[in-house]
Amino acid sequence: MQQITILGATGSIGVSTLDVLTRHPEKFEIFALTADRQWQVLAAQCRQHRPRYAVLCDESAAANLAQELKNNQCTTEVLVGRDALAEVAAHSDVDTVVAAIVGSAGLLPALAAARAGKKILLANKESLVMAGALFTQAVADHGAILLPIDSEHNAIFQCLPNHRSDYLQQGLISSGVRKILLTASGGPFRTTPLADLYHVTPEQACAHPNWSMGKKISVDSATMLNKGLELIEACWLFNTNPTHIEVVIHPQSVIHSLVEYIDGSVLAQMGNPDMRTPIAQALAWPDRIESGVASLDLILTAQLDFSAPDYQRFPCLRLAQEAAAAGATAPAILNAANEVAVAAFLNHQIRFDQISQVIESALMRLPLTEPASLDVVQNADSEARRVACSLIDSFS
Ligand code: NAD
Ligand code: MG
Repeated sequence: MQQITILGATGSIGVSTLDVLTRHPEKFEIFALTADRQWQVLAAQCRQHRPRYAVLCDESAAANLAQELKNNQCTTEVLVGRDALAEVAAHSDVDTVVAAIVGSAGLLPALAAARAGKKILLANKESLVMAGALFTQAVADHGAILLPIDSEHNAIFQCLPNHRSDYLQQGLISSGVRKILLTASGGPFRTTPLADLYHVTPEQACAHPNWSMGKKISVDSATMLNKGLELIEACWLFNTNPTHIEVVIHPQSVIHSLVEYIDGSVLAQMGNPDMRTPIAQALAWPDRIESGVASLDLILTAQLDFSAPDYQRFPCLRLAQEAAAAGATAPAILNAANEVAVAAFLNHQIRFDQISQVIESALMRLPLTEPASLDVVQNADSEARRVACSLIDSFS
């Protein structure tokens, strides 16, 4: 029995993970479920899955959850606060941690899991973008196993050589790989007339054509900053650099990414766009289990299209590529400014096209430092938030 902690259980990835786990009660047991403040959803999950612990970050939500569970004779113990997230991620009885909190809040608990040597199924790409060097070093130092469940990275992982230690030690290019082809749907505004992008609403930005996801990653997909974050994520996961990663627009989201080898072979991983496939692959790795995902109907799919990204339409992708090339604290600044800008856009404080302006200004105004410690990373993160907030105030 693998004991599982799901960080961010009430979100889109959390719910998909629970769906896969429920299909295999003989293999997996749920140790802890966590959320920010959605106590009703967490209460329903606790009644169904009976974890040992449930964690909420909000005090009054935690009190409501504890009362609700008591009323229902559910023995799950309710913990509260950020430290408790790290505790249930690092607990000695836990084997596997699904890191599915959205944004920078996911970094510390995921890092706690790495330092405790856990198997980490990583959805929270922001933690690698912010602190990739520290995170991957913690994984190596403590014998943790880092498996990607972001669909593109899971696809790349499936197409790479089986001997992970080879590319993790000598780098991807020394392992016979020529490049990674990172696919992107292009989001809801791939063909929208450019002038109309000034007026798009949060609702339109969150209506992704192929995937149903949380609001933040949906907006990131619409600006294509998500693909930029994924480029940085891929560099850390697969020990390579941005020059070996090409972004390709593929609107059908059927090929989840590809790996090209030096002999000209190109391997792709395909499937219906459903996160339960990468989640099940990582949960069972190196075996395979049922995920509940329907067979891919190639006849119905009929067509696979590819094109190059349009940087005029998607300035956020260019900014992320520049931050990836600059290294140091540039990705942490990019990530923090984006989180603030996306929240402001969702809150109707700024326009869609102003998201990239906020990120660009934060990157231009702040100095870069070597991210040698968590303090340096957190300082870059808070400075970027401060600059982004003042820019947003000046817009409105
Ligand atoms: P979501 O918004 O649906 O869920 C987020 C979860 O994190 C919720 O359980 C929420 O309670 C919790 N949370 C939010 N803020 C928190 C905080 N400050 N402290 C503690 N917990 C907090 O998000 P999602 O779509 O499930 O995405 C989660 C992560 O997975 C993101 O990093 C995203 O980029 C990544 N991801 C998601 C998908 C997808 O299909 N949804 C695909 C690939 C990668
Ligand atoms: Mg992805």
